[in-house]
Amino acid sequence: MWVYLNDKFVPQEEAVVSVFDHGFLYGDGVYETLRAYRGRVFKLAEHLARLERSASRIQLRLPVGPERLTDLVREALRRNQLSDSYLRITVSRGTGEIGLDPALCKAPTLVIIARPFQPYPESIYAEGVSVIVARTRRNLPEALPPQVKSLNFLNNILAKMEAKAAGAHEALMLNHRGDITEGTTSNVFVVQEGRLRTPSVECGILDGITRELVLQLASELGVPSEETRLTVEDLTRAEECFLTNTTQEVLPVTRVDGRMIGDGRPGGITRRLHASFRACRDRFLDGA
Ligand code: PMP
Repeated sequence: MWVYLNDKFVPQEEAVVSVFDHGFLYGDGVYETLRAYRGRVFKLAEHLARLERSASRIQLRLPVGPERLTDLVREALRRNQLSDSYLRITVSRGTGEIGLDPALCKAPTLVIIARPFQPYPESIYAEGVSVIVARTRRNLPEALPPQVKSLNFLNNILAKMEAKAAGAHEALMLNHRGDITEGTTSNVFVVQEGRLRTPSVECGILDGITRELVLQLASELGVPSEETRLTVEDLTRAEECFLTNTTQEVLPVTRVDGRMIGDGRPGGITRRLHASFRACRDRFLDGA
């Protein structure tokens, strides 16, 4: 596999970063996860715009602009002859002396990895997954804003460890007020009395690109929706629940903390939204 590192594509074995890189030393950097279907990256411009927003919030200047990044992402797919792919763009503060000051780093490190996409088993869509409410709380927006998709991912990793220990697919994190925020790598929605509800950005979440699309599709389908505050009780009393992210698309949740949601099967609105998501993606792939 070819990996883009700083200014060129190199074989994977040569794609190594210094132990003095501040991404390694401090988690100082940002990233994006993207997905390509049939060799085309879905929502590429949106991902690049979010990368730019994350970077600017930590005063990190991306080493290349969006046009060049677009070309590089496409080249990463071509070189690796990938069709259905998972891509990751990482930009760290770069290599520098030990110390927190970003000025110690002369130039950011840029890495683009493209991998074959390993499909999730269809059964998780047919049956739904279980989630837990984690003891680990989401980072305070005033501490490390969840809207910065940063390399400093320990908050989410700790919650993911709780999910794994409980045999659950995902962990949902609460904020300082005790409201639901999001999963470790996903946004969460519920359906209550036919209404789609999801935590607002103000609750302290990453503004997911799939989340945004799902809200738009809901409005096209005439499903009322609101960005709001959600409690654990809202979750357990919901008729339906699902997660969204770039790789999993729209994933039904049928259990929370071992308790069944609705009738324990993926809900009708969830299914319709996933079908709309796939139709929208197919229109994009067919160039409509
Ligand atoms: N929240 C977090 C914390 C995430 O890491 C992700 C994955 N990027 C998401 C939500 C979902 O975002 P997206 O739909 O853009 O993949």
